[in-house]
Amino acid sequence: MSTIGETGEFGLIDRLVPYFTASREVLVGIGDDCAVVRVGGETLLLTTDMVIEGRHFLREHFDGEAVGWKAAAGALSDIAAMGGTPLFVLASFAAPADTATAFAEGVARGMAALAAEYGATVVGGDTTRCDTCVALDLAVVGRVEGDRYVTRKGAQRNDRLLVTGPLGRAAAGLHALKHGEGESILIEAQLRPRPRIAEGQWLAQQEGVRAMVDISDGLAQDAGHLAKAAGIGVDIALDGLPAADPLLDYCRQADLDADAFRLSGGEDYELAVAVDPDRAPRIVDDFRAAFAKECYIVGQFSDNWHGVHLNGETIERGGFDHFKE
Ligand code: ADP
Ligand code: MG
Repeated sequence: MSTIGETGEFGLIDRLVPYFTASREVLVGIGDDCAVVRVGGETLLLTTDMVIEGRHFLREHFDGEAVGWKAAAGALSDIAAMGGTPLFVLASFAAPADTATAFAEGVARGMAALAAEYGATVVGGDTTRCDTCVALDLAVVGRVEGDRYVTRKGAQRNDRLLVTGPLGRAAAGLHALKHGEGESILIEAQLRPRPRIAEGQWLAQQEGVRAMVDISDGLAQDAGHLAKAAGIGVDIALDGLPAADPLLDYCRQADLDADAFRLSGGEDYELAVAVDPDRAPRIVDDFRAAFAKECYIVGQFSDNWHGVHLNGETIERGGFDHFKE
């Protein structure tokens, strides 16, 4: 008998897919950041995302507000990854009976605050008891402007791999929290992540943007999803990332491998994008003008191999799989 620990998160999902048959209204089904469906002339995005105590957050470092905020950021990030606008959120909450009421209220407050910043409204949910841990699942409905959405599929050979910001900060922030460090940009990135909604919408409107995913499980893993969806490979070059970064200072002081955080650290919620090489320089310049911050070219797609390379070499070190560690 095999276990889901052996099958792995993505192997398990592959096994579940045959049970669900798509209908005519489904433009994009299982396998992307959101499902894309047609309802009464509108193109809607549907996604759901769960956070579990001990897995996505530790109670000693997260108050209720941080849990709610982080869960909402992760859920809305999948809307950003398609270039969409979040509209409505349904929140399902489970917790042990001895959980402080103030903690549960904090969860609602944090979630509502994040959602409101991005124009979404919490419209319902479900509440139940769970004796072992706190769990929060957020289902989000969004829409796309003018039928323009970007899926994970569409990268072509020689396309550039672009990311919308620095990487690894959230993971380094968790390390800093566990080691009792005080407030910093890194800890802020872990406790108060933000979905790149405006960036995703903007990118979806740019000529030459061919595929997009949000980085929830680390660049190697999520860029790997772009490559796999296109049936090609991607070569990552981390020297495209900023040379001055609080992540680098922290790793130098703590004697840690910064590249490991940049490659495999999840929860930054930046977007990873496959971009036509001829359009890439223009997109980088226009992105700077639009958002007053940098985006970075961190790799190139190729049809000479499958999977993910780092500086031309194969890498074993992947991102996060919930069943394999
Ligand atoms: P993301 O990291 O963007 O949230 P996931 O890697 O969690 O995406 O999921 C990949 C795809 O598999 C998504 O389309 C998601 O909706 C689908 N999926 C994940 N778990 C299940 C499940 N238990 N049943 C059906 N579809 C699932
Ligand atoms: Mg995603």
